[in-house]
Amino acid sequence: MIGSGDHTPNSYPLMEDFYTLQGEGFHTGTAAYFIRLAGCDVGCVWCDVKDSWDADKYPIVAADEILNRALKFESKTAVITGGEPAIYDLSYLTELLKENKFKVHIETSGTRHLSGVLDWITVSPKKFKEPLNETLVAADELKVIINHPSDLAWALSFKNRVNENCKLFLQPEFEKREKMIPMITEFILMHPEWRISLQTHKIIGIP
Ligand code: SF4
Repeated sequence: MIGSGDHTPNSYPLMEDFYTLQGEGFHTGTAAYFIRLAGCDVGCVWCDVKDSWDADKYPIVAADEILNRALKFESKTAVITGGEPAIYDLSYLTELLKENKFKVHIETSGTRHLSGVLDWITVSPKKFKEPLNETLVAADELKVIINHPSDLAWALSFKNRVNENCKLFLQPEFEKREKMIPMITEFILMHPEWRISLQTHKIIGIP
């Protein structure tokens, strides 16, 4: 399943939305409202949100309703994630959030054209589907998941495909973190333009 055919430009299949701390990457530790849209066709074998793949399992929720829920909380950062949120035209949702003073972040595999008004683009490329050059160039943050030692060389191959200001992160796949963290550490000592990202929300037991 790729995405829901039932959504309209003003509504989206919503798997879940919640207020928590960003656990990964550049904004680790900061409060944000997470909007997890359902639907993904990338098919990562180690995906930790496989339940998000089939958009038809989830309700279609109006963007205005999502905004109203987000407005109940203190932070004015919204993170649109998935699934693969770029399946959908995000113009309406992102413009609505911007009108209400939110900073809008997106987490994407980079495999699709991005739409909407975005303040921070995190591209997490996957071996299972090649990211588009246009999304790599637009990325503020590149986050490569390290599931196997060979993924480190693969991560390096993206370094010249992103813009010069893009922050570079290596993140161990959570189930393999004990094995991967020493290799990532060694790699960053040799390639100091990279940083490590840990899934701190899982470590501290929050969503
Ligand atoms: S792109 Fe993300 S949601 Fe889709 S299969 Fe991969 S890890 Fe899962």
